[in-house]
Amino acid sequence: MTYNVEPWTQGTLAENIAKAGVSRRDFMKFCSGLAAIFAVGTPAMANAASLKPSAEQIAKALGEVKKPLVVWLQLQECTGCMESVLRSGGTTVEEVVLNLLSVNYNELVMAAAGEAAEKTLEDANNQDHILVVNGSVPLKDDGIYCTIGGKSAKQILEDSAKNASMILAVGACAVFGSVQAAKPNPTGAVGVDEIIKDKPVINVSGCPPIGEVITATLAYILTHGKAPEVDAEGRPLFAYGQRIHDSCPRRPHYDAGQYVRTFDDAGAREGWCLYDVGCKGPSTFSPCPIVQWNLKSGWPIGAGHPCIGCTERDFYDRFTPFYQTLPSAPGFGVESTTEKIGLGLTGVVAAGVAVHAGITAAQKAADRRATKNSPMAAFGDTAPGAKKPEPATETTEKSEA
Ligand code: SF4
Ligand code: SF4
Repeated sequence: MTYNVEPWTQGTLAENIAKAGVSRRDFMKFCSGLAAIFAVGTPAMANAASLKPSAEQIAKALGEVKKPLVVWLQLQECTGCMESVLRSGGTTVEEVVLNLLSVNYNELVMAAAGEAAEKTLEDANNQDHILVVNGSVPLKDDGIYCTIGGKSAKQILEDSAKNASMILAVGACAVFGSVQAAKPNPTGAVGVDEIIKDKPVINVSGCPPIGEVITATLAYILTHGKAPEVDAEGRPLFAYGQRIHDSCPRRPHYDAGQYVRTFDDAGAREGWCLYDVGCKGPSTFSPCPIVQWNLKSGWPIGAGHPCIGCTERDFYDRFTPFYQTLPSAPGFGVESTTEKIGLGLTGVVAAGVAVHAGITAAQKAADRRATKNSPMAAFGDTAPGAKKPEPATETTEKSEA
């Protein structure tokens, strides 16, 4: 479907969307998708019921929005986050909404260049606006590793943050620096909330985040008129309130002790659990299994690849090598390995699942109290430098059940 998106100069979002050729039916479908995303993490939220609007309520609130001013910066980054939004598998209503919203300043899609682009940014910065940031901020050597129009990324960010009513850090780079900030962090890369301290920063994490989650966060702000409730990492709870592991379709295999041991074994072909080949789903909060990617056509674990934990802070330093098993399984003590879990659970599946469910709930509560940068001991993370559990020495039979 091709839509005819023209710059939003007047009228409401609903009027401009209709002008672009989006039918009411498609707009309602888009709003139903937003309602589903808003509902992902609501069990973890204090006032869940009031934050779970229906598609009709979203359509009404979003439709009435008058043109908001959005400044969308791209700092030290790879443009993957923008691609995630704009190339999700077809021309979507999300794309229409974002094209309409980001028309004021966005380096990738705006027509203006050079001094005209700088003037657009300056004008937008002088007004009340929503600031969206992709990319990290390099601080080493006076920030020379990322400059635009002669200004360092830090200066650009500070200038744009001054009059911003909301700030979204979108993508792992903007949230904590991502791969650029991995040891030894040669450019001194940091996330937005290391620079902007006087305003809350909403962290839409992931490398890249799911396009629909980025749109949903913007839509949340527009429809609720305030920032969403966030977790200890600053991520919107409505989307990041659940672990991958808790909604993963391979979870029954985890509980039954059925693990892929190599990527070409029978278990891999049967769609068994990827924990043993490095899946970080038990330590990762993200709506990936529910929202999925590219018009809901798939997601990494669905395609047979372990989760690498890209929505978690410092995932590159904490979760590599990516194909190494997490130090221990959640809920089974730090010495547990998948071999032991499998052995234990094949005998007492029902009891094991019940215990696991209880522990998972406790772990979720514990995670809410976790502080930034702390290893998630509740999930089996070890503190940097701590002794990791020894690999299993006993030989157990794989469950073929
Ligand atoms: S978060 Fe990932 S996809 Fe987004 S800009 Fe950074 S490296 Fe690219
Ligand atoms: S360990 Fe990974 S593959 Fe296995 S159930 Fe959990 S999230 Fe799914």
